[in-house]
Amino acid sequence: MTAVTHEQVIEALKSVMDPDKKQDIISLDMVKGLQIKDGHVAFAIEVEASRGAQLEPLRKEAEQAIHGLPGVLTATVVLTADRDGGAQQGQGHDHGHGHGGAQDGKIMLPAVRSIVAVASGKGGVGKSTTSVNLSLALAAKGLKVGLLDADIYGPSMPRMLGISGQPTSKDGRTMEPMENHGIKCMSIGFLVEEDTPMIWRGPMVMGALEQMMRDVNWGELDVLVVDMPPGTGDAQLTMAQSVPLTGAVIVSTPQDIALLDARKGLNMFRKVDVPVLGIIENMSYFVCPSCGERTEIFSHGGARKTAAELGSEFLGEIPLDMEIRVTADSGDPIVASNPESPHAAAYRDIADKIWSKVDALTGAGAPKGPRIVVQ
Ligand code: ADP
Repeated sequence: MTAVTHEQVIEALKSVMDPDKKQDIISLDMVKGLQIKDGHVAFAIEVEASRGAQLEPLRKEAEQAIHGLPGVLTATVVLTADRDGGAQQGQGHDHGHGHGGAQDGKIMLPAVRSIVAVASGKGGVGKSTTSVNLSLALAAKGLKVGLLDADIYGPSMPRMLGISGQPTSKDGRTMEPMENHGIKCMSIGFLVEEDTPMIWRGPMVMGALEQMMRDVNWGELDVLVVDMPPGTGDAQLTMAQSVPLTGAVIVSTPQDIALLDARKGLNMFRKVDVPVLGIIENMSYFVCPSCGERTEIFSHGGARKTAAELGSEFLGEIPLDMEIRVTADSGDPIVASNPESPHAAAYRDIADKIWSKVDALTGAGAPKGPRIVVQ
C-alpha cells in the first residue's frame, strides 16, 4: 500500500467547506499541525471558540474526507480554538470552576501537584507500556495518580488500562476521567474514534492535549503522567511548551538509532526548560523463559552510556519479557497483575527515583504548583 502524502491530504481537505464562511478550510488556513505517520493522519481545525460547539459536523466531514484516501489507516481530527480567540477563554469558565486557566500561555491545574511527561524519540520503544506501569507503581506508593494519554498517533491507554466506553460529563462542561486500577485516565482514544461525537462543550483551548487537561475533572492529584506522542517534531515541542511540565522521562531501547532519537528528545526538553528526570532503557535484555539464559538482543547498556554522556540520570532498565507485553496488551499491566514479579519491582524502583525528584521539585520549599522550571 502506498503511503498517503501531505499533498494528497491538503488536496482532499480543499473539498471541506466552512459552513458559515462558504470557503474551504485550506483557503481559510484553518488546518493546523498536520501529522502523517505510517498511514495515521492527525491534525486540528482551528475555529473561533464561540463557534466550536456547532462545528462537530465540519470536524467529522474532514475526518471522512481523509478516511476516503488510499493508504490512510486512521484519521484523527480535533477542533481547537485559535489563540486570538483566547480573550474569551476565561469567561465564567475557568475561574468559577477551578479547572485551570492559562498563564504565560500555559495551562494551570492548581489541584495537580506535578506533571511528568513520558517521551520517546520514536514510536514502538515501549513508551506507553512504561507510562502505564510507572503510573501503577506511583499509585502503589499511595499517591493519587492520573494518566493522560496524549499519543495522538496510537492512543493505547484504553486498552492497556482495560477501560472501554466513553467519558461522561455531569455539568455539560467538564468531563469525568475514566478510572481503573486506581488510576484516573483520559485518552484521546476515548474521544476521537470513528463515529464518536466530539463531546467537548465548546473547544475553549488551544489543542487536544490542553482540552484533556483543563476540561477534565482530574480533582486532586499528586502526579499526572502524560504519555506523549513519540518523536521530537513541532507537535511534541508545542506540547512540551504549553503544558506546565514538572519534568520528563525518556524511554529508549538500547539500539544506537533509538538512542540517537533519545538524544533529540533530551535536547528538545532542555530547549524548553523542562528538566529531564532521566532515561529508562526498555527491552534492555531478554531472559529465556525456559532456560533462564540472559541474552542482550539489542546490545544492552546503551541508555546508561548515553545518559552519562549527556549528564542525565539513568533511571533503570526493563527487560524484553513476554509477561510485560501480554499483561499490558490485555489491560492488566504487570505492576498490577503480578506485583511480586521482579519486573514489577523494577518499575517500582524507577517510580521511586522519579518521585523523589518530583517531590524535591514540588515539595515544601519549592514554589507552589506544577509550573516549576529549574536549571
Ligand atoms: P510505544 O508507546 O513506544 O509506541 P508500546 O508501549 O505501545 O510502545 O509498546 C509496543 C509493543 O511492545 C506493545 O505490544 C508492548 O506490549 C510491547 N512492549 C513494550 N515494552 C515491552 C517489554 N519490556 N517487554 C515486552 N514487550 C514490550
